[in-house]
Amino acid sequence: MKTLKPITIAGGGLAGLTLGIGLRRRGLPVTLREAGHYPRHRVCGEFISGRGQETLARLGLRARLESAGAVRADTAAFFSASLATEPRQLPTPAICLSRFVMDQLLADEFQMLGGELHVGDHASACSDGPKPELQPEGRVRATGRQAQAGENGARWFGLKAHARKVSLTADLEMHVSPRGYVGLCRVNGGAVNVCGLFRRRAGDGDRPADRLELLRGPTGSRLRQRLATAEFDESSFCAIAGLSLRPHRAVARAECCIGDAITMIPPVTGNGMSMAFESAELAIEPLAAWSRGEVSWAEAQSQIARRCDNAFARRLAWARWLQRCLLTPPLQNALVAFAAHSDWFWRMAFEKTR
Ligand SMILES: Cc1cc2nc3c(=O)[nH]c(=O)nc-3n(C[C@H](O)[C@H](O)[C@H](O)COP(=O)(O)OP(=O)(O)OC[C@H]3O[C@@H](n4cnc5c(N)ncnc54)[C@H](O)[C@@H]3O)c2cc1C
Repeated sequence: MKTLKPITIAGGGLAGLTLGIGLRRRGLPVTLREAGHYPRHRVCGEFISGRGQETLARLGLRARLESAGAVRADTAAFFSASLATEPRQLPTPAICLSRFVMDQLLADEFQMLGGELHVGDHASACSDGPKPELQPEGRVRATGRQAQAGENGARWFGLKAHARKVSLTADLEMHVSPRGYVGLCRVNGGAVNVCGLFRRRAGDGDRPADRLELLRGPTGSRLRQRLATAEFDESSFCAIAGLSLRPHRAVARAECCIGDAITMIPPVTGNGMSMAFESAELAIEPLAAWSRGEVSWAEAQSQIARRCDNAFARRLAWARWLQRCLLTPPLQNALVAFAAHSDWFWRMAFEKTR
């Protein structure tokens, strides 16, 4: 019997854990090195929509998430400073589950399948430094987004907290403002996830104490009204900065990357988690072939990158366009009006970004 070559995954978020599970289901030796610990809250809208749900079903994980309390979402409503849409049916339902529960569940599943998990283990990242031929073979980078100082004079940051005593008009509410947008959706355990992406320009001068205020929305806004009676769970509050929303191609990465380590899709699409699951699934077959000695590491890495670029390039381009329009104040009302009145636009925007 041929010896199987071991695979090491750096990063135990959704992409790394899903890949680890997929590889263990094929009996391959896998070690996963995660810098943090489980369970933990993450800045995330916790709204899983699009094709990644099919990946979860194929890997036998969807039913696990449902048993852990994932909430089904069927409708969405959009709000700008002066307009609101009625709840609209999502072309395909989404599911919502807190990262606190989901990442722990996937980590448990990976270990149950015999995967070796090291937590609190910061893998050195060579990023785009050394040339491909100098990268260690068998190593997959799933370390998430690569921090970036700023883009066109603006810095992006994300905030998230769970709240209770919030009543929603739709399963997903998206509130846009000149500073960014905040999504609200129900998650497991009766909580509502309040998660926002914000743009900070030089001179905006937010103090840390203002951050919960940012999530609550501008004075007089519908978001502010919606959260008027909200009781926030302080322990769920988290923040990240240095987000880069410029798309990158997997073939341009020196390392074998999956998930946000390739590129980040604008969060408004609610598709980054889906891309993490999908890219993990796309990597399983080439990695299995490398582990069995059927293809070289260079061939496996190039196959994974090409598969990911084919799957995501168009989605990323549409998402970038949508996000730009959504964050341009004069276009915000027009977009919300389109979403309210045009079934064609609503379906098109949903399908192109998922
Ligand atoms: C504001 C905001 C809202 C969002 N909302 C949604 C949404 O509603 N729906 C959706 O689908 N997506 C959403 N996303 C995107 C989604 O969260 C990401 O796309 C997804 O988490 C990517 O998964 P990942 O596994 O690639 O990265 P991550 O989940 O970030 O995991 C990376 C892991 O690598 C670990 N790590 C990092 N460096 C190292 C190292 N050197 N060694 C070892 N481990 C390391 C980290 O600790 C982490 O556990 C949102 C993102 C933001 C910023």
